[in-house]
Amino acid sequence: MADGETVGVVGAGTMGAGIAQVAATGGHPVRLFDAAPGFAAKSATAIAARIDRLAEKGTLTAEAAAAAKARITVVDALADLAPCQVVVEAVVEDIAVKHAVFTTLEQHCAPDAILASNTSSIPIARIAQALRHRDRVAGMHFFNPVPVMRLVEIISGPDTAPAVADRLSVLGERFGRVPVKVKDAPGFLVNLGGRSFTTEGLAIVQEGVATPEQVDQVMRDCCHFRMGPFELMDLTGIDVNHPVSEIVWQGYYCDPRLRTTPYHRSLREAGRLGRKTGQGHFTYDDKGVRTPGAVPPLPDAAPAARVVLLDVSAALADLMAGADVVARDDGESPLLIAPVGEDCTAVAVRLGVDHRRLVAIDLACDTSKRVTLMTAPGADPAILAAVAARIGANGRAVTAIKDSPGFIQQRMRAMIANLGCEMAQIGIADPADIDTAMQLGLNYPQGPLAMADAMGVAAVHAILRQLQEATGDDRYRPSQWLRRRALLDLPAATPA
Ligand code: NAD
Repeated sequence: MADGETVGVVGAGTMGAGIAQVAATGGHPVRLFDAAPGFAAKSATAIAARIDRLAEKGTLTAEAAAAAKARITVVDALADLAPCQVVVEAVVEDIAVKHAVFTTLEQHCAPDAILASNTSSIPIARIAQALRHRDRVAGMHFFNPVPVMRLVEIISGPDTAPAVADRLSVLGERFGRVPVKVKDAPGFLVNLGGRSFTTEGLAIVQEGVATPEQVDQVMRDCCHFRMGPFELMDLTGIDVNHPVSEIVWQGYYCDPRLRTTPYHRSLREAGRLGRKTGQGHFTYDDKGVRTPGAVPPLPDAAPAARVVLLDVSAALADLMAGADVVARDDGESPLLIAPVGEDCTAVAVRLGVDHRRLVAIDLACDTSKRVTLMTAPGADPAILAAVAARIGANGRAVTAIKDSPGFIQQRMRAMIANLGCEMAQIGIADPADIDTAMQLGLNYPQGPLAMADAMGVAAVHAILRQLQEATGDDRYRPSQWLRRRALLDLPAATPA
């Protein structure tokens, strides 16, 4: 491969080292600078060792590895980045430090050199403010660890020239990444889109509907997320995800859709930061092994012998296999229903049935491993236990939660889908890119718009409307993008 443009990397820490590595293996001469004396050289040695390991594993040929290592030059001053056609800044997240770096680069680099920042939270417009030529400033936001995470967000500020974003996209591809063009907005794409997964999990726990362990189990087993929101927060660190939540929420002028909970903040204030401190939402032993979180116990019971199905459903009948299944209320058997967006209380009132015997079952997800049950206040615990035992006898784990419009996963996924739709509505990125970015950046099983289609756009809209009505909280107001596609029966990605 012919060598590409010379790339400068400022800051040789976690991110800068990763960026230098993928630039070098992508065929670009790299000039690496760090303000801490000797640090860039140390970092270059570590990068070389990582490239050697790639060669040992057969990911790179020995020749490609040698060529990549030879492309990295350590330099002693920002002025030494003068020959670079592109500079990517990855210094500390401090606007004063970034302004000092960018204004110095402007003095030394060619007028058409691109100056990009890997900032995770500072608006590109704010970084560009200090410069004379703002059109060549953009965001190039990589994810940690850079050589593993394939996504790179290419962020255009109000003054960024379209050709600059185009050149950075090509560069991102040469670095072996998947570039996605994103508008300059709080949290950019992934750090905005990821808010619903964690904050809705927190809202469910705050309301006393379920415990963190229960939420995680349902999101893994029923919706195929690799991790639940609480184990994810513990992994990234509460000292990282709580401030990001605050920055994004404040950036959108306190939009309730993005609001987190007091419990989230209290963990940070208590120094319960997750895995790194041995305690967060869960506790960890010295070896990092997690202690299982609390799950409210269900009383032992014999499997229900007879149940009344208020919804005619083969899936419900299958879960009740072995029981005598009837359609008319006999005045004593459990009453089963599979609501979408309604809580048990609303169902009991709408149908005029005995709320003490009503058990709602979430069928709007994969129920092959785990089934979520929900009851209204005043429900008979013996009825719930008998239904749970019947489902257990049919080979499924059971998660029994308190009343909640949309159980756990319906509201979690509806919130993810809604935020994806809102990002499309306000033009954060193209719909297809929103899905790509959320899958690659957060390992979601599907992007939010694909999730809306899988659930049914109209169903997502209905879940949110019911949550909004039941709670009076505009956190659940549907995006206009979602509303219009639901009303017109169109796929979620249909362009405006
Ligand atoms: P880090 O602390 O590992 O590295 C920062 C490096 O910058 C240090 O080596 C420091 O010596 C150097 N530095 C500080 N001031 C400098 C200056 N004036 N000139 C040159 N070098 C200077 O930090 P990091 O985690 O690599 O983060 C760097 C940037 O990337 C931040 O803006 C951060 O928000 C962003 N980011 C971080 C992550 C992540 O997960 N760590 C992910 C995406 C983006």
